[in-house]
Amino acid sequence: STTLNGGDEDNINVVVRIRPLNEKEKATGEREILEFPGKGQVICQTMTPGQKPKVFSYNVVFEPAATQEDVLEYSGVKRLLEMAVEGFSCTAFCYGQTGSGKTHTLTGPPGLVERGTSPYSPEHGLVVRSFVYLFQLIQERPECHFILKASFLEIYNEKVIDLLNPGSARKPLQVRWSKESRSFYVENLFTVDCEQLDDLFAVLEEGMRNRAVGAHAMNAHSSRSHTLLSVRVRRDLRADAAITCSTHGKINFVDLAGSEMTKKTNSTGKTLEEANNINRSLMVLGYCIAQLSDGKKRGHIPYRDSKLTKLLADSLAGNGVTLMIACIAPTRSNLSETINTLRYASRAKKI
Ligand code: ADP
Ligand code: MG
Repeated sequence: STTLNGGDEDNINVVVRIRPLNEKEKATGEREILEFPGKGQVICQTMTPGQKPKVFSYNVVFEPAATQEDVLEYSGVKRLLEMAVEGFSCTAFCYGQTGSGKTHTLTGPPGLVERGTSPYSPEHGLVVRSFVYLFQLIQERPECHFILKASFLEIYNEKVIDLLNPGSARKPLQVRWSKESRSFYVENLFTVDCEQLDDLFAVLEEGMRNRAVGAHAMNAHSSRSHTLLSVRVRRDLRADAAITCSTHGKINFVDLAGSEMTKKTNSTGKTLEEANNINRSLMVLGYCIAQLSDGKKRGHIPYRDSKLTKLLADSLAGNGVTLMIACIAPTRSNLSETINTLRYASRAKKI
């Protein structure tokens, strides 16, 4: 079922998307290792020849033929957007190895957004489609007044860079705690008031362009960095033109660093401290999600151990819903990374 609710027990929804074979894989006749029997199941061959394939199950599985529109309709992201409008903090993130389709799922094929292509192309990803749906929701509520504010940042090597203000690459921004809102925020982060749908598109485009510039300057940059696009949704309920009450919701879209980055640390059993230089945020996010899904919510959840988890804490901690989209490649050469991702996603689903 794609149904989500904001209740304590059901605040992480996990879906899997398998990308199609690319031209090179087709040309070299790469072997495919996955089957999809339906019912949210993925069957994956194992590392050992002759061993029985492993069965995993999730809320939803998007097979290689699934379209970008399918992901909007069936991932449960619409429910997140509806909740953001109601005042909850929600997060949708893509997890997976480099080349598995994270950026494709969120924004589209390489360069599509950066080129300023009309946002209504079939190739556009979940973020653009979500913006359209968000404005649809707002237009259905003329009795309310909405104020949307968007920001777009990148976390690279535990440094926060404002993707709407490239100058910040030289002087990274600080993450601070706000007593008032009881949440973490990024100091001096540029936020854009978005009165129209086009304003949201412009934020995405600008940030993606700046990200591409950074990626060009440093090899492997985009596979080692996380991007976080946030839209805060303030809703004022009006009665006879007087504001009677306000809600403050939020939707985060996170394109995570490639999951292959965590492997070194995991395999040698190093501590979180030592993970610092590899990819602290990705490691800690895994810890937090595992803790949450173990039902140990009252125990210690190490949100404070990385920049990314600090900024996602309010949505992970219960006041909202998290959608994890695990992205995988279909071929044998990616088998060990695929199994890692399928396991990570299974752990998150055990709520
Ligand atoms: P990641 O962000 O996880 O590193 P990308 O999103 O850049 O991976 O995907 C790698 C390549 O595969 C890109 O050229 C992308 O357009 C293509 N691709 C990924 N998913 C799909 C898909 N569902 N349909 C078609 N092409 C895809
Ligand atoms: Mg990417």
